[in-house]
Amino acid sequence: MDCHFLAVANQKGGVGKTATAVNVAAALAVLELDTLLVDLDPQANATGNLLNTAGTPGIADVLIDDVELQRVVRLTGRKHLSIAPGNSRLSSYIPKTRTELREKILPSSTRYRFVVLDCPPALGGSTVSALASCDEIVVPVQAEYLALEGLSSLITAVNRVRDGLEPVKTRYLLTMFDGRNRLAKEVEADLRRHFGGSVSRVVIPRSVRMAEAPGFRRTIFEHAANSGAADAYATFAEEVAVDVGR
Ligand code: ADP
Ligand code: MG
Repeated sequence: MDCHFLAVANQKGGVGKTATAVNVAAALAVLELDTLLVDLDPQANATGNLLNTAGTPGIADVLIDDVELQRVVRLTGRKHLSIAPGNSRLSSYIPKTRTELREKILPSSTRYRFVVLDCPPALGGSTVSALASCDEIVVPVQAEYLALEGLSSLITAVNRVRDGLEPVKTRYLLTMFDGRNRLAKEVEADLRRHFGGSVSRVVIPRSVRMAEAPGFRRTIFEHAANSGAADAYATFAEEVAVDVGR
């Protein structure tokens, strides 16, 4: 069975992309689905979240210098979860072909059921390659003023990047959600009105436990297994896995 490539993207920073990529990858691994997390952000936050050494060599060496993927993939100490680290060289990456990322990962595809791509907060080379290379896009959305405006430029970029490729499923995920906040509820209603069934029923709550976890290099399942956020990410990952038939 081929592996399923999932890009976590939104050009806006601080919306929960890395938290989502790390915790969805971790949740898929808990479901015993072999998962490779690929850190495409030059800031390498996802890498720092899981490993305690700086990520070099990393995916940039694969993309820029044609190093074999398996030479940079690292075990994370968690069953079924590996990572291709990120590092600052990614900021100078210009894809040689649109789907270069997928082509470079495919020789390893029998090892993984899922490849989760954590994109940087920009529409640069690595994001373009991730958007063109994936089977599905997960868009974390923070329920705040002007959230929808940002999404329309993302959709325009996706349409341009995927021109001539298979249509791609997009799944919107509300993150850092505070149900007591009236604006948040309004933005949620707007999002569901615009994107209907593409918006996950699952909503990730804002939680101190989520904010703490990266500092301990823990996933939410390691840091606060019984929290609402852990539940939400587990349910969301199940939704993804079921839709893909895994
Ligand atoms: P991005 O990758 O889109 O820039 P991050 O995932 O790094 O965003 O999240 C931005 C900040 O918010 C980080 O400090 C992260 O720990 C924190 N964060 C992420 N999700 C939550 C949440 N559900 N509740 C509280 N804090 C969160
Ligand atoms: Mg990030």
